[in-house]
Amino acid sequence: MESFQSLEYSPQPVRAGYTDRILRLDLGARSISLMEVPESFKRQFIGGRGYALKLIWDETTGETRYDSPENLLVMSSGPLGNEPWFPGSGKFIIGTISPLTDTFVDSNIGGHFAPLLKLAGFDALAVSGVSDREVVLIIDADQGRISLVEAPDYGEDQAGSLSYGNALLEDMFGGLSENAAAVTAGPAGIHARFGIINSLFFDKRRNRLRSKQAGRGGTGTVMRHKGLRAVLVRSGLPRLKGNQAADPDGVKRAGAGLKKVVSQCDSQQLYLGAWGTTGLTEYMNKFHILPIDNYQYGQSPKSEAVFAEVFRDKYFSKKLPDGCYIGCNLACAKAAENVLLTRGPHAGRRVGVDGPEYETVGAVTAMGIFDPQFILEYNYYCDEYGLDTISTGVSIAFLMECAQRGMLTAEDVGYDLRFGDAEAADRLLHEVAQGEGFGRVCGQGVSRAKGWVAERYASKNGASPAEALAELSKFGMEVKGLEFSMYISKESLAQQGGYGFALKGPQHDEAWLIFIDQVHKELPTYDLKAKALKWFPLIRTWFNAVGLCKLPWIDVRHPEAANTDWPAQNQPSLKLYVDYFNATVGANKTLQDILDDSERLGLLQKMINLRHGQGTRASDQIPWRAMGPAYLNEYEVRSDYYDEWLREKLGPEASLPADPAARHALLMDMRRKEYDELCDTVYRAKGFDDIGVPLPSTLEKFGLLDEQAHDLLDRNWA
Ligand code: SF4
Repeated sequence: MESFQSLEYSPQPVRAGYTDRILRLDLGARSISLMEVPESFKRQFIGGRGYALKLIWDETTGETRYDSPENLLVMSSGPLGNEPWFPGSGKFIIGTISPLTDTFVDSNIGGHFAPLLKLAGFDALAVSGVSDREVVLIIDADQGRISLVEAPDYGEDQAGSLSYGNALLEDMFGGLSENAAAVTAGPAGIHARFGIINSLFFDKRRNRLRSKQAGRGGTGTVMRHKGLRAVLVRSGLPRLKGNQAADPDGVKRAGAGLKKVVSQCDSQQLYLGAWGTTGLTEYMNKFHILPIDNYQYGQSPKSEAVFAEVFRDKYFSKKLPDGCYIGCNLACAKAAENVLLTRGPHAGRRVGVDGPEYETVGAVTAMGIFDPQFILEYNYYCDEYGLDTISTGVSIAFLMECAQRGMLTAEDVGYDLRFGDAEAADRLLHEVAQGEGFGRVCGQGVSRAKGWVAERYASKNGASPAEALAELSKFGMEVKGLEFSMYISKESLAQQGGYGFALKGPQHDEAWLIFIDQVHKELPTYDLKAKALKWFPLIRTWFNAVGLCKLPWIDVRHPEAANTDWPAQNQPSLKLYVDYFNATVGANKTLQDILDDSERLGLLQKMINLRHGQGTRASDQIPWRAMGPAYLNEYEVRSDYYDEWLREKLGPEASLPADPAARHALLMDMRRKEYDELCDTVYRAKGFDDIGVPLPSTLEKFGLLDEQAHDLLDRNWA
């Protein structure tokens, strides 16, 4: 194995949550360097997403694409990552220019990699350049050495993201240990635009490597195109007090407070500790939110087959706690052991499967499949190949609907592709991963597949490609090029905004408002929706900047939240988070200070979007399917509900058209107008103009009106 570069170093000690050092790797020049973080950089951009945004804003341009050498792949936790006294502190983000959206994307991910990276002396790793050989980066703090080596070849059998990481950790560190972790990208990243990065860590109780995923936006595709197969990190320093907090007692107090809320309330609420996020499936089905047949329907009698009980009773190992980092007593990261694979190249093997999460269940029901064994195998193969379960499922589901509506034939695909056909879905999954057959189209994601289908359909049928594309855009479930996550937003205007305004594309981790709006009816007016669409992305951004998991805040409500003005904000728990932040870094911030810090990051991300042509009102538009029943068949299955909705909006005196098609058209017209009005209200609340571009005064308030920003604002965006 050839070593390309090696650096002897002394790990920078952590102080008050930071090491103040970023590890830089330039794969083109094969150079490793250490970047000292200036105080102003840290103060303004916090960590995590903030560090990724600032580096990408400074070092890339509007022309940078995912495979450009200057594109950066940034992995960063934040000052609050790595604190076993506090629940959920193993999270980090991976930020880059996305192959799907052609603008900034980040995906958050759990496990032990970022805490160990920090103990190894780094707040972040930033990778630039493209290597002409496949390489692996090894950060060995115990030896005081960082090495860039040729990627070892362990054979076809261990070429996947999970198996390669396993072989590599054993090979490089002489076995698996809790002191070492890895991130890996799988072979699918070479072919598909939605490749993921797995975060691998050793779970002593299960005696195997476990994995968490940075699933969204194609981070694994970027990593593979850079020629980087894996990064390993090792540090034997103790985790407890690893942050060297300014006020260790304050950290303990805040952590004990949140752990008490989790232990007392989770079992009375979503009970993530027992069900994992699969517990959501039943709720979503009940309220017509579970995506079925490419989001056409939100409920089915078949859904019961994939409810949480099935996974808990048949697959999950009930006695084992399932935290993805030390000290998280919510412990929602469920896993199945000894799953016998019945399909694909590994058929006959017994494997551990980390998951499924709700999102993976929804991705499979979106294909019209309700088979728990299929879900487990789909989950395994996506992780091993390195594919996003969400984008893969939504892309296949979209193509299934193209076939349903006669816009794609068996001749185009090579076989029949129908909703509910598990064998066809499985075949396409492997084709996507291997870059074969129709998988080459599907692996480009919904946005690009729409173009391919439109051209093909138009040329075969003598139709207009533009008209075909307009039709496909009604049900192609993507915004800005990213596929939707697993919530049907048709009946929640706030969630439509949550998806449409999300800066990275329709992923709910910026604004998950569907329950507050649709089920609890807490956002009845445009102003309240706009307030939520500003506030929730800001607080969620903060979690992505400091290195924390949001679930102990958003999915476990403090008992005292009911006595506050807005229970959904869960301010009593947030107070513990603010206390934890102040105790760690030695600050005296208020919740409002934290929201202001996040607003700076949100605006910087908006400016990067603008620079990449994704920053205006046009980019915030959502497909018809996301705002209502796009087709008559969807309207007809819930016609009573929709007619009642029309009567409520039009008033008791109004008479509805007799023709169902006319009522459907009226409904969709009203939905489009509502979404338009929401855009106006939200842009005003955020300090944007009516095209969705930040006003100069808004940028100036946060110190972001630099030369580049001036140049962008001076352009004609109308
Ligand atoms: S709540 Fe779940 S995802 Fe979040 S840190 Fe804990 S185990 Fe991991």
